Amino acid sequence: MQNYLSHPTLDDYVINPMGMAVVDGNGKAQTYNSDNKAAHTREAYSTKRIVNDYLSSKEGHAFVNYIYSRGKELIEIKGTGAGDLGQGVVAAILHNGLEGVILSNYEGKTFTYHVADFARQYHLDQDSAMEYVLAHEFSHAAGNYSEREAEGMIKEFFLEQAGKSEGSEKARYQKLAEVAGEREQQAKYQEN
Ligand SMILES: [Zn+2]
Repeated sequence: MQNYLSHPTLDDYVINPMGMAVVDGNGKAQTYNSDNKAAHTREAYSTKRIVNDYLSSKEGHAFVNYIYSRGKELIEIKGTGAGDLGQGVVAAILHNGLEGVILSNYEGKTFTYHVADFARQYHLDQDSAMEYVLAHEFSHAAGNYSEREAEGMIKEFFLEQAGKSEGSEKARYQKLAEVAGEREQQAKYQEN
């Protein structure tokens, strides 16, 4: 597996996790280069629960259906984990184009804590920020490897959801689309 990692921070660069734990499909955890196996393992299980909850939610179903409706396919997610991914990073996907693992950042803080930082930065509520971060990682898992492409696809998805919704749910998806559009523009700027 290549050390290709992408992440929902404002930067787009490759990171090598300093230490991590990954839980596989059978619920078995393994640590890699970990200096804190207990914490990394605990956070890996917590992140797995959060990702599973997203995938079984109506928001997660809607995004996965959207991916397939666009003729894209998801790589196989072989595991979910937590690792030290660097300052300012929320989550990442470590993959080789065929299979991969979704990671939350640890760096001494929970995934929820890092998502709360992201929520504050973009003036989102916590649940919307979590939906954003997970949709972003699954957008990468759908073959959108650059930040620009990943943000572009979730922007289109959020706009479609806004079009199908009313009231506060419509406003919520319009705000998410706005954030994705802003981040897409930033990624474009950084590519040039
Ligand atoms: Zn990313």
